[in-house]
Amino acid sequence: MHEKKGYIAEIKSKTGVNVNRCYQCGKCSAGCAVAEEMDYPPSRVMRLLQTNDVENFNQLLGSESIWLCVSCQNCLTRCPMEIDIPHLMDFMREKAIKEKKVIKKANHILSFHRAFLDSVQYTGRLYEIGLIADYKVRTFNLIQDMDVAPQMFLKGKLPLIPELVEDKKQIQTIFSKTKI
Ligand code: SF4
Ligand code: SF4
Repeated sequence: MHEKKGYIAEIKSKTGVNVNRCYQCGKCSAGCAVAEEMDYPPSRVMRLLQTNDVENFNQLLGSESIWLCVSCQNCLTRCPMEIDIPHLMDFMREKAIKEKKVIKKANHILSFHRAFLDSVQYTGRLYEIGLIADYKVRTFNLIQDMDVAPQMFLKGKLPLIPELVEDKKQIQTIFSKTKI
């Protein structure tokens, strides 16, 4: 749980980002390909974080923006202060899950993340058919994109047998230390 004030220090210690360095030039939002879809574009996220107000922080944890960010790094490349917004977004996604504040609209994105990680956890690599099946079961969206499956299969993009890494133990160790 947060204190009423004080998450800025937590952000700094977990991500290295000092939100107070942002001077609201807006270059991050201008360069973000998904800013228009976001409820809070990256520069607005920074402004809200600077208030150090727990209500604003919770609002961001329950926002769609943190799930729409695709970690493309465009904002970081453009930022004159080199503020690592993608890392910040990762931190907030993790926090939103832990504090059960994930917005309903983002459930399908979270399902995709989980299906992706399940695939990597069990095979050590991405197993596309496993990923698709896992995602569909999680979202009950069974017929989505079914029309493209035959073409992908014919082009060899959907191998039937998963490729396994040799040392699965190492993968399990990584997941046991990091999965939330
Ligand atoms: S580009 Fe950097 S300094 Fe400018 S608004 Fe975005 S985070 Fe702030
Ligand atoms: S990393 Fe996220 S916030 Fe930054 S430009 Fe890419 S999508 Fe936008």
